[in-house]
Amino acid sequence: MSQISGILKGLKITFGTMMKTLFPGGLKNPIPKPSVGALTVQYPHEKEAPPARARGVIALHEGNCTSCMLCARECPDWCIYIEGHKELAPPRRAGGKPRQVNALDRFDIDFSLCMFCGICVEVCPFDALFWTPEYEFSELRLADLLHDKNRLGEWMHTVPDFEEYESGSEQKQKKVPR
Ligand code: SF4
Ligand code: SF4
Repeated sequence: MSQISGILKGLKITFGTMMKTLFPGGLKNPIPKPSVGALTVQYPHEKEAPPARARGVIALHEGNCTSCMLCARECPDWCIYIEGHKELAPPRRAGGKPRQVNALDRFDIDFSLCMFCGICVEVCPFDALFWTPEYEFSELRLADLLHDKNRLGEWMHTVPDFEEYESGSEQKQKKVPR
């Protein structure tokens, strides 16, 4: 008996939601307007603006990347592929020795494997990876979801400006004693 009352309760909620969607004006104005009452939008004809800090796609600032491989090692899905080589750069001071620096040959992220956890962005010590709210990069072929360093670099223009943290959030939280 309790199962039947549960089913009836569920159906009541479903029916109520359906009526609110079909007739957003209520019983006083029973004209069906599902496009007004629905909480969803008719994508791609209608588009919603995601929040500035939404995790849409990852952008690469190639100039900041030192090929340290930290992001690739920490990625739980192993979907970051980096190749580089060492080269000599001019000395920092006059009369100094040339410096050995890492140059980036390849930096790919396979978004068909990525689970958007954000670990790579968090661990990068040189601010080379950024989230952007851009989400329109679906492809017909899975292989096309592999973005190389040029494509990742193109996303940089969609990275939103830094927003101040909420007050208090910059303070270091005390660790919970174990
Ligand atoms: S967001 Fe997570 S899964 Fe995706 S590339 Fe970065 S670390 Fe890997
Ligand atoms: S993106 Fe950051 S963590 Fe990854 S290789 Fe470049 S500098 Fe290192």
